[in-house]
Amino acid sequence: MPKTSKYIFITGGVLSSLGKGIASSSIGLLLRQRGFTVTVQKMDPYINVDPGTMNPYQHGEVYVTDDGAETDLDLGHYERFLDENMSKANTASAGQVYYDVIMRERQGAYLGKTVQVVPHITDEIKHRMRAFDGKYDIVIIEIGGTVGDIESLPFLEACRQLRLEVGRGNAMDIHLTYVPFIKSANELKTKPTQHSVKTLMEFGITPDVLLCRAEMKLGKDIRSKIALFCNVEERSVIEALDAPTIYEVPMMFAKHELDTIICEKLNLKRSRRDLETWSRFVHRIKSPRHSVEIGFVGKYNKYPDSYKSIIEALTHAGAINDTRVVIRWIDSEEVTAANVDQMLKGVNGILVAPGFGHRGIDGKITSIHWARTHDVPFFGICLGMQCAVIEYARNVLGMPAANSSEFKRNKFSVIDLLPEQRSITDKGGTMRLGAYPCHLERKSKAFAAYKSEHINERHRHRYEFNNDFREVFTAAGLKISGTSPDGRLVEIVEVPSHRWFVGVQFHPELKSRAVTGHPLFVAFIKAARALAQENL
Ligand code: GLN
Repeated sequence: MPKTSKYIFITGGVLSSLGKGIASSSIGLLLRQRGFTVTVQKMDPYINVDPGTMNPYQHGEVYVTDDGAETDLDLGHYERFLDENMSKANTASAGQVYYDVIMRERQGAYLGKTVQVVPHITDEIKHRMRAFDGKYDIVIIEIGGTVGDIESLPFLEACRQLRLEVGRGNAMDIHLTYVPFIKSANELKTKPTQHSVKTLMEFGITPDVLLCRAEMKLGKDIRSKIALFCNVEERSVIEALDAPTIYEVPMMFAKHELDTIICEKLNLKRSRRDLETWSRFVHRIKSPRHSVEIGFVGKYNKYPDSYKSIIEALTHAGAINDTRVVIRWIDSEEVTAANVDQMLKGVNGILVAPGFGHRGIDGKITSIHWARTHDVPFFGICLGMQCAVIEYARNVLGMPAANSSEFKRNKFSVIDLLPEQRSITDKGGTMRLGAYPCHLERKSKAFAAYKSEHINERHRHRYEFNNDFREVFTAAGLKISGTSPDGRLVEIVEVPSHRWFVGVQFHPELKSRAVTGHPLFVAFIKAARALAQENL
């Protein structure tokens, strides 16, 4: 008989931003530590076909998978916690679901039937939910949005139907809710949770476990009250307090035996949980021996979710280096030649962030110039690397007009579209997206970090290093240490005379995992730590 997967549906109630993505990832990790194969899927009820064109202020960063899907940032958490590659099939939005159904309707696939939310949309959702059936022991399905939203209805209905189809003991529902503390009453309040569960029940879903976000411990009386009113066993009412680091959440859940409860509900044979390596990692995040300050030059600083993966990659690299990474947020739009010294003085490393559009470019270039001339470790990511190339052209090659044709097209477009891209104007289709192989030069900082000549990294950009200028750059000392295997695309540039100056065209942050980190981030923090120690 073919193996079937067990399903865990995760919904959220009361309000958004309760950390469903972290909860799903933490549950995934706990089950993985017990020896099961696990994947996580994110279902987003919004109508956008993908988040690629959504404003990072509203939606946080766009996470890119190996197969080039532009996805929700929660997929980043899944990958970081589970150390498992996600793909297009790990995500679906209402937009994609409706798009497929409508396309099929246009092709006549429904043979004159009335096409309806139930069953056609819900069938399509279930079809996607079953993408991993039999391939993993456990499939966790996180439903975006908050229970009660109009748009999440078809998704909840699909969860209900799928649970019925796979049968008792093969699926369960976990609901993440909020238990607010009301100061004037000096009390934790359970009513919002009761209402949220009641709404779920109206859709035919009875949660098996409640994860209660709260600012303080729930206490036995509150837990038994929630259990009684929400029809959930008392041991399955689990508090989810604010954690000092998101990586501690799995350990908090483990303390309440959440994974044991899940194994019981899903009839899974329990093996021993092993969280030793993970706890060591968490301990190093919380109490490291060293500390560095990194100047983070970007333009979405007011909304750090736009840089989620970079921040996490710095945390991982910090833990590996036994170092706390303190970020000094530098708004690239505010940096000028006159204030750069004051803004960057004292940092042990400078990271220049990815981005699109001309806003903040001058500040990025000025910061890079400062890093290069002050011998402070520099890490440029995507646009950050492109700005490093522009800075080098302007200040070392003596080309003051050097630019990227994204901002200004002239004779000195050292960053440009590839010739074959120039005729395409459509915003959607022209990006280099997903994983590409890269070949490293042995005598380089990049090779020293990766310890391998062949790497694979993820991309999300349109513009590239302009090969017309390759010779003048290398003659002037800029090292091209990574290229596409055919040598045509420049992927990494370095300044060898500098202590650590590396710019990468790809997004290494998307492949940094908890515990193991990413080689370039680890090397960058190591260089910053060395500088901090020199300055002591
Ligand atoms: N805007 C640049 C490009 O499209 C860089 C993009 C990025 O930083 N992700 O090439």
